[in-house]
Formats: sequence, C-alpha cells, structure tokens
Amino acid sequence: QPWVLDVQDLTVQYLGDRPVTACAEINLRLARGEILGVAGESGSGKSTLITALTRLQRPPAATTGGRIVLHDQDQQVDLVGLAEEELRRYRWNTVSIVLQSAMDALNPVLRLGAQFADVIRAHEPSLRTEAVLDRTTELLAMVGIPANRIRSYPHELSGGMRQRAMIALALACRPKLVVMDEPTTAVDVVMQRQIVRQILRLRRKLGFAVVFVTHDLSLLLELADRIAIMYAGRIVEIGSAEQIYHRPRHPYTRGLRDSFPPLHAPLTTLTGIPGTPPNLSRLPSGCAFAPRCPEAIDDCRSTRPVLRQIGDQQAACHLYDDDRAAADRDPAVVG
Ligand code: SF4
Ligand code: MG
Repeated sequence: QPWVLDVQDLTVQYLGDRPVTACAEINLRLARGEILGVAGESGSGKSTLITALTRLQRPPAATTGGRIVLHDQDQQVDLVGLAEEELRRYRWNTVSIVLQSAMDALNPVLRLGAQFADVIRAHEPSLRTEAVLDRTTELLAMVGIPANRIRSYPHELSGGMRQRAMIALALACRPKLVVMDEPTTAVDVVMQRQIVRQILRLRRKLGFAVVFVTHDLSLLLELADRIAIMYAGRIVEIGSAEQIYHRPRHPYTRGLRDSFPPLHAPLTTLTGIPGTPPNLSRLPSGCAFAPRCPEAIDDCRSTRPVLRQIGDQQAACHLYDDDRAAADRDPAVVG
C-alpha cells in the first residue's frame, strides 16, 4: 500500500544535565490520505512529536534517534539529518503544519493574500501574480472564507476564520501530509465540528494524509481513521478509531475514553483515572502508567511492557503477555 510517512524508532529528548526523553521509540506508518489521530494528556509527548515530525523543534529539544521518512513521487527522504535549507524544500510542499493558535502562526502585519503569496511563491517562484491570486481565492473558498478577505489582516478575522485560513495556507502547495497540533482548541465546539467536517471534505478532495494531535479523544472518533494513544512519551495503544472506542485494550485508553465526552477543556486530571501523569524526568521503572492503573499486576512495576500485536490493534500492557485468549477477552471483563 502506498505510504507517505514512515516514522522509525523516533526518540526526542530535552538535552541538559539530565536529558529528559519526551518521545521514545515512536513507530508509525501513514498510508496515503490516511488521518491518524494522536491523543493523550498534556505532557504525554504529543506536541513534541508534532514539532519533531516537521523538524521545527528548537534546543534544548533534539531528535536523538530514529528516522522520519517521507515518500513523495517515488522519492524517499529521511528528514532527520537534513540541513535547514534542505528541509525548506519539503516544508509546505510535502509536509505542512497547522498549529494550535493561528494567531501565532500567521504574520500579524501581513494581509492574508500576501501570506498566501509568500508560501506559494517560495515553491513556485515563476507563478504569475494572477495565478497566485486565483490559487489563494480557491484555497480560501475551500474553507468557506470569502474572496474579499484576501485583503484582511489576521486580527480582522474571527478565531474560527483564522484557524480555517491556517488550514487553507497549509494546503497551498498541495502537501502529501498535514500535521495538526490541536488546531481546534481555541475555537468553540460548534466551530470545532465545522472544522473537522471541513478537514474530512478537503482530504477526500485533495487526498493528503493528516497527523492530528489533541487531548480530545471524542473529536478524533469523528475525524481519524486510526488513533494512537500516547502516555509518558510512548505510544501505548494504536488501532482503528472503532477499535479504540469500542475495544480499547490498554487500561489508560479505557480511562481516556471514559473521560469523554463531556468537555473540551484541557485535561489536567482524568475523571476516569485517579492521579496525574508522571514527571518525565522521574519515570517509574516498569510500566509508566502503573501508579495510576486499576489493573496493575506485579510485572507492571518491574518490566516495561512493549507495544505488541493484539488482534489487529497494538497495545503495550502486561495484561496481554502470555494469555492469548486475553486478546479476545471482552475489555469490560478484563476491567
Ligand atoms: Fe496497567 Fe500493568 Fe497494563 Fe501498565 S502494564 S497498563 S500497569 S496492567
Ligand atoms: Mg500541546
């Protein structure tokens, strides 16, 4: 199957006297046009993952291991190890990013049209002004922004419109992959749903793949084809949106699911799970979730579980170690 992104053993650390590992041994492969949701509490490493995927992280954060391979037009390129000027060829063009706050990402002193022109021209310098304008109008129309907004400054747009403008900008050079970090956090629930529907529609039309990071699992159930659950810098479960919702294997996934809905506020504690996420600089040995896990057994405190195949999803949990039948056990019974 054609793929666009293959992340192999990616490790990201915050360097210092005592390096802190924010993402550990992440493995992911995205098919063309696939939407992968990444969910977890704050501090789970999901935002770190996003900035690492686009090589936008800044010191002291550093990619200390692994590969980020993009596949585009029969070419494969490993973004890890590319110099900044080489990366520029791929940013916007092959992979683009939509951030939590469009206000931070858009230039406040440039009209919308000028920002689109900058991005388009950077990759297609010979495009005529008229063609650039046409492309911009078309992109804005795709996210429901009227053409006369081309002359608006970012602060003249509503929050929802700014986020949609940011999504349109991310699509300006027809990337194969769009990476999104909580792009709907700053807008109300109605606008969130509207943006999710728009992303789905645009994906159908343009065929790009998406990595979408959020703490809001309920949002991902509407948007994502597959969902990866992160805890303490690692993927602890990955499966189809269906599986994650109806048959979560990992006790943390179950807690996360049971915490939604009701709210779309940042998660500090989960209603379904007691306690708080661990400090990444002082992780317990064994399973990082053990101190909060209602199902922890002896092994959990001594040995870290590895991500393994359970049916057609994957989870890192000792509950499935040797009991093959456990894979087919109803999660409700396990819990
Ligand atoms: Fe809970 Fe043990 Fe599974 Fe970790 S490995 S999630 S502590 S049962
Ligand atoms: Mg974040």
